[in-house]
Amino acid sequence: MNSRIADIQSRMIALQTQQAAKTAQAQPTTVQGGGSGDDFAAKLQEAMSGTTNTAGTSARSFTLNSKGIPTELAAYGNGKIPANALEQVGSTRHKLWAPAAQGLNQMIADAKREGVTIGITDSYRPYEEQVDLARRKGLYSQGGLAAKPGTSEHGWGMATDLDLDSKAQAWMRKNADKYGFVENVPREPWHWAYKPKTA
Ligand SMILES: [Zn+2]
Repeated sequence: MNSRIADIQSRMIALQTQQAAKTAQAQPTTVQGGGSGDDFAAKLQEAMSGTTNTAGTSARSFTLNSKGIPTELAAYGNGKIPANALEQVGSTRHKLWAPAAQGLNQMIADAKREGVTIGITDSYRPYEEQVDLARRKGLYSQGGLAAKPGTSEHGWGMATDLDLDSKAQAWMRKNADKYGFVENVPREPWHWAYKPKTA
């Protein structure tokens, strides 16, 4: 166990070094995600889960293009993002763009500490599922609940649908923006898009 702790400590130092390097290189368009995720617990969790990689997801420093789409994902296309370009949300089956996944995971953990339960119904949505949803639920523009396939925020891994009771809904409306999430679709109180503030 002592060697495990030593390993985690050395990895945390590496993470901090990485983060310092990233911060030093930060561009004007850099956005910060992840709410209060820079704390010790988040770093420890990252070290324990072993998901930190050389791309520097731990640095929480990313760029968006002029359409607000993550630069690193734009070339894939909406709903065409390979699984390994997305990040798992905690230990769930859900995946999102890495900063969104980290922000959501942190938000769920913080809410839980306050006795609020946030469940995830949906996250990244491949193009084929967008087509299927549009067929089943109708296009939003025609009174339904589905985005035109190929335009969904879910197709960029930048939105999540949440299972919220009234207490959780109220908590989200008060706190979600701290983690980068906004309620941005009328008639869909479960839909929360990740809109990180630009630095
Ligand atoms: Zn949604």
